[in-house]
Amino acid sequence: MNSIIRNIDALVKELPGNVSIVAVSKTRSPEEVLEAFNAGLHTFGENRVQELAAKKAALPDGISWHLIGHLQSNKVKQAVASASVIESVDSIRLLGMIDSEAARQKKIIDCLLQVQIALEETKSGFSINEIEDTDWTSRAASLTNVRICGLMGIASFTDNMEKVRSEFSSLSRLFRETRLRCFSNYGWFTQLSMGMSGDWRIAVDEGSTMIRVGTLIFGERIKK
Ligand SMILES: *Cc1c(COP(=O)(O)O)cnc(C)c1O
Repeated sequence: MNSIIRNIDALVKELPGNVSIVAVSKTRSPEEVLEAFNAGLHTFGENRVQELAAKKAALPDGISWHLIGHLQSNKVKQAVASASVIESVDSIRLLGMIDSEAARQKKIIDCLLQVQIALEETKSGFSINEIEDTDWTSRAASLTNVRICGLMGIASFTDNMEKVRSEFSSLSRLFRETRLRCFSNYGWFTQLSMGMSGDWRIAVDEGSTMIRVGTLIFGERIKK
């Protein structure tokens, strides 16, 4: 067995059945993605729209593509055309732009709200306060072609696993509170995307429903 298949096997054995895998394929070749696909993974994540679109065109239709990197407004059209889920929605304005574009393309697109949980790192995302202070019920009602399906977050890059755990725990609490406060009539608000190769066990422990793992499946990345 080659290493990609072996890695997937080991992960699937350990991962609880209710947690799904987004295989992060940025910088990987279509051949590597195809190997992972043939080994049973059907959801892949890219952080750049152009790379996502190119791989989508080169690979089987059965793959669901998640955009996990910051989306610039001039790329919304291409993102809506190629991604099935945009995990990295970081502003209300972007949400509106995705909705209008999806309406134009006659598509329904699933989105996650990215939350900035690694406080001293400058990652994009809503602040916890912004999520708490927004009336998502009326936001969601005003969207015709976007479904807000949950939250996504990236923990600090640190060896301090207690810090990572506390960030995941805050996001998990925010997810449950927001679902209860605003999405009780939107049955699709079910996804909490958190956990990467180095911290997925902690994320799952804290309630993740979706992990985004690249290195764990494909090995170390050479480029960024
Ligand atoms: C690259 C990336 C990942 C995966 O990172 P690994 O450490 O290789 O598992 C997950 N989420 C996002 C947003 C990423 O950019």
